[in-house]
Amino acid sequence: MKIGVLALQGAVREHIRHIELSGHEGVAVKRVEQLAEIDGLILPGGESTTLRRLMNLYGFKEALQQSTLPMFGTCAGLIVLAQDIVGEEGYLNKLDITVERNSFGRQVDSFESELDVAGIAKDIEGVFIRAPHIVEAHGETKVLSVVGEKIVAVQEGRYLGVSFHPELTDDYRVTQYFIDHIVAPTTVEKV
Ligand code: GLN
Repeated sequence: MKIGVLALQGAVREHIRHIELSGHEGVAVKRVEQLAEIDGLILPGGESTTLRRLMNLYGFKEALQQSTLPMFGTCAGLIVLAQDIVGEEGYLNKLDITVERNSFGRQVDSFESELDVAGIAKDIEGVFIRAPHIVEAHGETKVLSVVGEKIVAVQEGRYLGVSFHPELTDDYRVTQYFIDHIVAPTTVEKV
């Protein structure tokens, strides 16, 4: 599979490494035309206001809203995929969820937690950095993981979103799940 990583801002190289560790080809996507060459897209973490501004500037908002590519968002990438953002307008409207930004409080700006992620593993290392959480998951959206009361991983059809940064660890099982269980079956459907 050929998996793109939106390369406008954020942890791009780390995601490409995880794609390669999963046995697939990773490409940095900087132009809208490149979307035609890939089977799935990862939206990395970073800062979602900047990310949205750059996506507007380079035409990614319309292109991705219209696209049927499977997408996986981490942290800021999850915010970009959400239908509703507390206090702001939703952006790509791909995941039927409400997210709240920077929602673990200032005292715990960053932390790590071992996560049970349904369908993937019970011991995923979650690195949270000024992370959002999912306040509500609506409709068909499946909750895959929670920390305390807070939802931190969801899937809705071909869209996967997590509050944390799997790419900052050596554990590439979440990326592998995205490619093998979401992207690959979607590609077979297309043929
Ligand atoms: N706090 C950032 C935001 O709201 C996300 C942080 C991250 O991606 N690590 O955009």
